Amino acid sequence: MKNESEIQEYIEKCENEVQAIFKKIDNIAQFNQEKVLKIFKQNRISARHFAPTNGYGYDDIGRDTLNKVFAEIFHTESAIVSPLITCGSHALALALMGILNKSGLSMLSITGKPYDTLDTVIFGSEKNDYTSLKAIGVVYNQIDLDQYGKIDEQAVLEFLSKNTPTIIFLQRSRGYAWRDAMNLDYMESVITKIRAVNKDSIIMVDNNYGEFTETKEPTEIGADLVAGSLIKNIGGGLAPTGGYICASEELIDKISARYTSPSLGLEVGSYAGSYQPFYQGLFMAAHTVGQAMKGSALLACVMRNKGFNVLPRPNQVPGDIVTTLKLEDKDLLVKISQIIQACSPIDSFVSPEPWDMPGYKDPVIMSAGTFVQGATLELSCDAPIRPPYNLYLQGGLTLEHVRFAIKEILRAL
Ligand SMILES: *Cc1c(COP(=O)(O)O)cnc(C)c1O
Repeated sequence: MKNESEIQEYIEKCENEVQAIFKKIDNIAQFNQEKVLKIFKQNRISARHFAPTNGYGYDDIGRDTLNKVFAEIFHTESAIVSPLITCGSHALALALMGILNKSGLSMLSITGKPYDTLDTVIFGSEKNDYTSLKAIGVVYNQIDLDQYGKIDEQAVLEFLSKNTPTIIFLQRSRGYAWRDAMNLDYMESVITKIRAVNKDSIIMVDNNYGEFTETKEPTEIGADLVAGSLIKNIGGGLAPTGGYICASEELIDKISARYTSPSLGLEVGSYAGSYQPFYQGLFMAAHTVGQAMKGSALLACVMRNKGFNVLPRPNQVPGDIVTTLKLEDKDLLVKISQIIQACSPIDSFVSPEPWDMPGYKDPVIMSAGTFVQGATLELSCDAPIRPPYNLYLQGGLTLEHVRFAIKEILRAL
């Protein structure tokens, strides 16, 4: 498409098609905005919570209250929320290693293979075979998703009739698989069936990309623990780094021993940079996640109408902030990645190229012209260069930014 008014009309037509989804997203954002505000009010958040601390950080009211606020958002007894947790993988690893801390304990993933960065946590690597779960004698099992991308409930219940894993692990987001995000009604139905035969396992959810995409969180529908990154959804685009874990006091006690040290737990940890962006980011998150979801729904609609195979599906509230484009064309994949970069507020002048990355079998292309390095609530994309040339796009702090990128993509098609 070359003609400006033609492009404009095309986008408007698609935007009309997704109005019903936009309305649902508005309602979700409204609900979560109010949820956050009520919790801020109850906790009397004020400027004193933003005072920077240093050294040990004893009695850091900003830190302690942020933990409490997150625990209330996720309906758990306790939480660790910290810039000292470096990223989402770190949060997940801390939770797993804090709980699965001795030989004979076990983990069952029921959504297939966990996110790539957990491979080394679970199995170790050639370089490091001494700190993995496997190295200390933790048993790992996995039940793959079925051909429709759903949990193989029969296989799970069969497994649980003979075993009681310490942790049952689920990934909420579609991640890099061709499947829908787990919506929480569905997750709840699975958890209910699990609980009918198993009362004792800890149900843990990798919540990355899922926060505030619905009016509930996994810990409100039966999960015991959620963990994720603060430079995705719940940091609202403002948190500069960090991760979170929410669970019962008993579990957070165990994890905090691993997080700092068994003698110190959550008593220490200062942050000279002030917690203000974490509070303000949480305040912004409901709206901003809504913007990213709208961007995803619109982009999916535009590309579907252009004949591409796309997730999320039509008339579906996304359930995470990832759009998958099955492009079937290497050159187009590279081209769209370059467009996303060129449309970015930061580093718009650089052009990404496929590159060999440690830990990946195929070359990878990544576009992330973001304010916060690698932050994927900001519009970004990545893809391994292999058939069927799936491109994973995520985020968008404003719908206007995503719309701008869509125009450029249409111009190139
Ligand atoms: C991003 C992500 C992770 C890892 O988080 P990082 O912050 O990149 O380390 C884990 N699981 C899922 C589903 C993710 O999307």
